[in-house]
Amino acid sequence: MKSMKVLIVDDDVDSLAIARIRLKKDGYIIETASDGESGLTKARESSPDLILLDVQMPGKTGFEVCEELKADPDLSNIPVIFLSAADNVREKVKGLDLGAVDYVTKPFDIFELKARVRAALRTKRLQDLLLMYGEVDSLTEIYNRRVLMERLQQEWDRSLRSKTVFSFIMTDIDKFKNVNDTYGHPVGDDVLEKVAYILNKSIRSGDVVGRYGGEEFGIIMVNSTVEEAFVAADRYRHEIEKIVFKAKKVNFSVTSSFGVADSSGKDSLDQLVSAADSAMYKAKETGRNKVCKPD
Ligand code: GH3
Ligand code: MG
Ligand code: MG
Repeated sequence: MKSMKVLIVDDDVDSLAIARIRLKKDGYIIETASDGESGLTKARESSPDLILLDVQMPGKTGFEVCEELKADPDLSNIPVIFLSAADNVREKVKGLDLGAVDYVTKPFDIFELKARVRAALRTKRLQDLLLMYGEVDSLTEIYNRRVLMERLQQEWDRSLRSKTVFSFIMTDIDKFKNVNDTYGHPVGDDVLEKVAYILNKSIRSGDVVGRYGGEEFGIIMVNSTVEEAFVAADRYRHEIEKIVFKAKKVNFSVTSSFGVADSSGKDSLDQLVSAADSAMYKAKETGRNKVCKPD
């Protein structure tokens, strides 16, 4: 297995040296930088598998560096662990909300740091594998259509065997063409990424979300009737509507239309998908930003 590369960005020479020496012993390739700006440059040059990022640094803070990393599609996949002397909940929450995978307080216990590095790299390896096997949509990092349809087939087969009901939810962003036309395609891409992220975060464990097409997503809700799916979909609808996007110094939001259907009484998986699809079109035709069930 190839050696994983870890970039450490810290202006504190002692903590940088300890981390570098001890992690190197574990077989990682180590890159270092002592301020935010050169950290970003190193990240671009050496595409590390993980970045350990100090929060308090002269010049750019770690939080600012993290924001820049997450906004750059080439760097946004690299996991970040914050290192910080500030041991308060607000700072930790802020760091994690900026997209970091972990937050370690200084002075760190080297064994704890090493274990957290291992954990972050484990996840990174899995993520890389998924991308490599073509299961994940590269823009939104959720399952692509092929995997979504495979999972749907598995769930269909299972529901027949166990005589249980499951639901399929389809959603399509409203007037998404306007977003591209008004703010440009890259902003449109950001919207898709964020909507996918929110859906992925909002679904129950065991449920599956995938990118069905351009601005369309599908959600498999296990063990759920259409009534339950309706309630969940309305919650997702609201979560999407609440996201604030920023472009050209203006804030905007998007809405989406949902169609829900369940497997009961359907003769085939195609029937279930068409039922959800027709329900979604009904939502579009009757005003958008709503959830519809089959008649
Ligand atoms: P409606 O409310 O009826 O769904 O209107 P709409 O504008 O959302 O629907 P339409 O199908 O006319 O337009 C969808 C647009 O989505 C057109 C296409 O360029 C855009 N799109 C599809 N995939 C991507 C993508 O990966 N990135 C971006 N930025 N745009 C995309
Ligand atoms: Mg649309
Ligand atoms: Mg569409």
